[in-house]
Amino acid sequence: MFPRRRTRPVPVGGVVVGGGAPIVVQAMTKTDTRDIRATVAEVRRLEKAGAEIVRLAVPDRAAASALRAIRKKTRTPLIADIHFDHRLALAALEAGVDGLRINPGNIGSRDKVREVVRAAAERGAPIRIGVNSGSLEKDVLARAGGATAEAMAESALRHVRILEELDFRLIKISLKASDIPRTLEAYRLLAGKVDYPFHAGITEAGRLLPGSVKSAAGLALLLAEGLADTVRVSLTAPAEKEVAVAWQVLQGLGVRARGVNFISCPTCGRCEVDMMALAARVEKAVGRIRVPLTVAVMGCTVNGPGEAKEADIGLACGRGSGVIFRKGKLLRRVPGGRMADELIAEALKLAAERSGEGA
Ligand code: SF4
Repeated sequence: MFPRRRTRPVPVGGVVVGGGAPIVVQAMTKTDTRDIRATVAEVRRLEKAGAEIVRLAVPDRAAASALRAIRKKTRTPLIADIHFDHRLALAALEAGVDGLRINPGNIGSRDKVREVVRAAAERGAPIRIGVNSGSLEKDVLARAGGATAEAMAESALRHVRILEELDFRLIKISLKASDIPRTLEAYRLLAGKVDYPFHAGITEAGRLLPGSVKSAAGLALLLAEGLADTVRVSLTAPAEKEVAVAWQVLQGLGVRARGVNFISCPTCGRCEVDMMALAARVEKAVGRIRVPLTVAVMGCTVNGPGEAKEADIGLACGRGSGVIFRKGKLLRRVPGGRMADELIAEALKLAAERSGEGA
């Protein structure tokens, strides 16, 4: 439905970004990277939540030293996020990370850049260029008259050329502004100039609810134009929530599926049950399902059965009882007190059958 921009494939550990590969969900840890135990625990939680690549901030030598142990104790490809200091980039690669996020134009002398590029190339580790509207070069800002989309694209191209001159092409690019129109415009501008995959997201989006809405709106536009190869949602909220929101966006657009696509009606004056409590309970219980499955919970027997029938497993609640559907067929009527349990049991049963099929 959404044609992708043609990009070259860039492998990050065992995960391919771009080149038509499925859009990858990324996350970033929020722990102090020097705290190995807390960081490993967070990476594992993110893996469980569905993160396919995890980035860690590496602000100093101690953080770089911690990477070796973190790498050994986790499975997901790891990316070291480094600003300026090329020694940290070298140490991170040495520790076994699968990629870097560093802007070559900020590393300093050409020799330092060359050293980092050589070490990355030897290990097949890609470099993501991350342009942020808040930290553009002074001359770029002056020429463009501010932190415009043109300025962001120009800054990215400048970093790209540095890597290309060293014959390095394992590149991904992100262009982040905290407002959607500028972000979208910057990606559009750069899309016509390079074939490197794009890492997309709306940066500093805010707290859980407004940030999720803003991220979803921005990502939807980028995804609809085929401008995203990997996505990260940034929220002032636990990192697992960011991953969950990213998956919801991809799932809602029909771009990727993971776990349950949960449908529940908004309720209205026809509703016969405590829908908020029922939906919350069912959503939580089916949240551990990993195979794609649509589960619907509807609040009445007027409009409910239609929607419930379209789901893999659906419930239409009535007064004192409800009806459960499986793939469009009426399974049985269940008493009001058993509706949630029986729906959950049917969903888990179908999920087990599906995962058995895929085994
Ligand atoms: Fe109202 Fe029934 Fe529609 Fe829910 S399914 S919104 S209760 S009409």
